[in-house]
Amino acid sequence: MKTAKHILEHTFGYSDFRGQQEAIIETVLAGQDAMVIMPTGGGKSLCYQIPALIRDGVGIVISPLIALMKDQVDALTAQGVRAAYLNSSLSAQHAHEVEQALLQSQIDILYVAPERLLQQRCIDLLSRCKIALFAIDEAHCVARWGHDFREHYLHLHVLGGFYPGVPRIALTATADEQTRDEILASLKLEHAQRFIGGFDRPNIQYRIQQKNKARQQLLRFLESEHEGDAGIVYCLSRDKVESTALWLQEQGFEALPYHAGMNNAIRAKHQNRFLREDSIIIVATIAFGMGIDKPDVRFVVHMDMPKSIEAYYQETGRAGRDGLPSTALLFYGLEDVVRQRQMVEQSQANEMYRRQEQQRLNAMLGLCEVAACRRQPLLRYFGENLPEPCGNCDNCIAPPQTWDATEASQKVLSCVYRTGQRFGSQHIIDVLRGAANEKIKQFGHQRLSTYGIGAGVSENEWRSVIRQLTALGFLQLTQEGYGGLELSELCRPLLRGEQALELRRDQLTSKPNKTPKKVIELAEEDLPLWHALRACRKRLADHHGVPPYIIFGDATLKELVEYRPQNAQELLRINGVGDTKQEKYGPAFLEVIQNYLLQEEYGGALEEDYSL
Ligand code: ADP
Ligand code: ZN
Repeated sequence: MKTAKHILEHTFGYSDFRGQQEAIIETVLAGQDAMVIMPTGGGKSLCYQIPALIRDGVGIVISPLIALMKDQVDALTAQGVRAAYLNSSLSAQHAHEVEQALLQSQIDILYVAPERLLQQRCIDLLSRCKIALFAIDEAHCVARWGHDFREHYLHLHVLGGFYPGVPRIALTATADEQTRDEILASLKLEHAQRFIGGFDRPNIQYRIQQKNKARQQLLRFLESEHEGDAGIVYCLSRDKVESTALWLQEQGFEALPYHAGMNNAIRAKHQNRFLREDSIIIVATIAFGMGIDKPDVRFVVHMDMPKSIEAYYQETGRAGRDGLPSTALLFYGLEDVVRQRQMVEQSQANEMYRRQEQQRLNAMLGLCEVAACRRQPLLRYFGENLPEPCGNCDNCIAPPQTWDATEASQKVLSCVYRTGQRFGSQHIIDVLRGAANEKIKQFGHQRLSTYGIGAGVSENEWRSVIRQLTALGFLQLTQEGYGGLELSELCRPLLRGEQALELRRDQLTSKPNKTPKKVIELAEEDLPLWHALRACRKRLADHHGVPPYIIFGDATLKELVEYRPQNAQELLRINGVGDTKQEKYGPAFLEVIQNYLLQEEYGGALEEDYSL
């Protein structure tokens, strides 16, 4: 029997287990059930793939994401694993072939959709096979209140009775306690060993920046930090998705729109290009997400603030599944505060639900306005304690300044009061700065005592104060719903001079560090090799009809640049290169490296084009 370590090295090409992988694999190998909670990118797949290869029989992986099964099977096949899937996308003929292969013990890992698995035909089929284990992926789909709920997941508990003695392993990245209990109860996994990993995604750099000509900010960000990278840009509305994608195209980026109002075929095409090509930017509403398993998404940008920390964390979590440095950047402004507050207040839901939404929104606003480490409150929100500031968020990298805004706040609040608590922020700012426009004349506001008392302060600065006062709850929206502002109860001590208020000074530049760093850091002189290797990967991917990351991930490519292996032996030492990939793809990559080294040695004298 091959050991887990042997398979890790030879099949998957990795030298060491990560985190709790080894303990989980041992548990399943011993025939015990397990529940695994690990963040996205934590390495859940190996926890069932390796035991499936070691234990006698076929490992059955239950997954709700039919669209991903082909990629998962392609990835395993590229590693020399005998894998297949059964779902509704297969033709009858093809499904029949898979069933025959299964009966002849020619498959080690089988992906099945839950609906399919529970059909009598499939139950009969499996009863004629030796089964190594059941892996229930995305196990949070059992939770009725979750947005990924799948009816069929509720019936999966029957597996324990149908196939006694076969270990079951449930996996998810969703870790709140309610969901966890629901998984154990619904799947009848009460005796399962529990492996609960942390929530943190240390490779993601969290940044939240004040909106100030957001498109230009986006452009600077892409140009200085993410040239040629794949990423997602989230917008709140379909219109904004379309216009932002178009604008990015005009700026020379390969940007594609994606939202629920688009024709299915075009949507699928855009998603497919995103997966298959190296540097596509998807501009999308939140309709884009579930089932995006691309490991090398290098950035997620939010052009508008999400409505809760849950949503923010899930959306930003699509970056950097491969563990390499990635950026999550959110542009946030007064209009986000106003819009999101309006959406909650105007929602038709009942009072209790509205209050919960309000609290979720407040937590999100708190995260946007915090002047200290962002990762600490983020993780605390999910019940995890990070003792030290993270060092990898904008506030840690460049701590924002705060200032005593007591007097400025009093000016704003009294101006809101004197104008009758019904105007929006722009008018308040105009009055404070002593503007001479029609609206001011119409209402006689030039005669107010607050007219012009803030003339020396810029419009942006006033907007920042009003935004923070609204986010902190001193100002609230009026009932009319036109964005008018009124004072809340909280204002009293501040207006009476019994409370001082520190606010953060907005940072209007996009980069937290003086010299922007590339996400994949490479020396200037290594870039030609990097690009040549990427081109080689793309060529092989197209040839085999799979996405580039199935050939080799970015982490592997980066090691190739660093170590420049020159033969099969050296190549096998690179992380992500197992026996099969070495044989299949090794020669092509070795040739690229060799040509490059020659080129380097002989300089321009060698005319050969190694860039493929
Ligand atoms: P999850 O399903 O938890 O989101 P995956 O199983 O897709 O995560 O793994 C994420 C990435 O980490 C993949 O690129 C995978 O190949 C890599 N990986 C997993 N385990 C290891 C390991 N022990 N050493 C190096 N890389 C690993
Ligand atoms: Zn931090």
